[in-house]
Amino acid sequence: MRTDDDSWDITESVGATAVGVAAMRARETARADALFQDPYAAKLVEAVGSGWDKILRGQVGTDPERSRLYGPLNAMMTARTVYIDEYFGAVGAAGIRQVVILAAGLDARAYRLEWASGTVLFELDQPKVLEFKASALAGEPLTVDRREVAIDLRQDWPKALRGNGFDPALPTAWLAEGLLRYLPGAAQDRLFDNIAALSVPGSTIALNMGQGQRTLSPEIRAEREKLMAQAGIRIDVENLWYSADDRTDPRDWFAEHGWKVTASDPVTVLTEHGREVPDPVREGLRNHLLMTAVRP
Ligand code: SAM
Repeated sequence: MRTDDDSWDITESVGATAVGVAAMRARETARADALFQDPYAAKLVEAVGSGWDKILRGQVGTDPERSRLYGPLNAMMTARTVYIDEYFGAVGAAGIRQVVILAAGLDARAYRLEWASGTVLFELDQPKVLEFKASALAGEPLTVDRREVAIDLRQDWPKALRGNGFDPALPTAWLAEGLLRYLPGAAQDRLFDNIAALSVPGSTIALNMGQGQRTLSPEIRAEREKLMAQAGIRIDVENLWYSADDRTDPRDWFAEHGWKVTASDPVTVLTEHGREVPDPVREGLRNHLLMTAVRP
């Protein structure tokens, strides 16, 4: 059950969802036809050791690679990773040197992407989540000035961001990946208000959002629950989400605030990258939004 001021570490509640996402990045990275490489994902999942490591190693479940269990979720995670990696490639080329990753979780882009010289990258998340990542990746080389801002995104995070050296006079590339459904609709609007207030012309944002209530079929849900129970994982992502209905569509919000919006979706991204999307997976991805916007 969520509350307005709940908090978590990497093994529990919303924090644990970051591990599931990293496990899916690790699984994609291990494929012969991987669409991206995240060499830190498996390391992070192993370091948490809260059950996802067992799934990753195939110690529970029958045939994890072919299992339809994580079909739509894996496919969505692959699509959004590719989409956002390309987004950051483009912002670098556009001359943006200030990056803010909201709800960074176990995102290792600070370490694994090439950043233009002089780029400052802020990662925001709950204090214990960031603490865990810093200790698990201690000593890994960085080509970016990475700064942690440990704060709850329902609190006054713009103040904390400024306090860590964020410069509101510079164009910024924002990322809200795997975040919006963990915020109530009103908090999402406040988040967007804050982003817009800190964004000079030329700033950009990328985000994703599942728009359905239940994205998985009952059979797949049941199978997934069984596997997670075997692995000792006790989270139900969809019960941590706030309603999809009671919130503004990000496309509308940014368009109405004068940003130029470009929307996409996981099936389009995967197809463009030569990844086959079987019909049941396609069905599970039906309502998932990938979006970028630029403030002219
Ligand atoms: N963006 C990362 C990725 O895609 O790998 C992590 C996604 S994970 C599904 C959700 C993340 O959002 C977690 O790391 C969690 O701690 C963070 N998060 C959710 N609500 C938050 C809040 N109110 N304040 C700070 N972090 C939050």
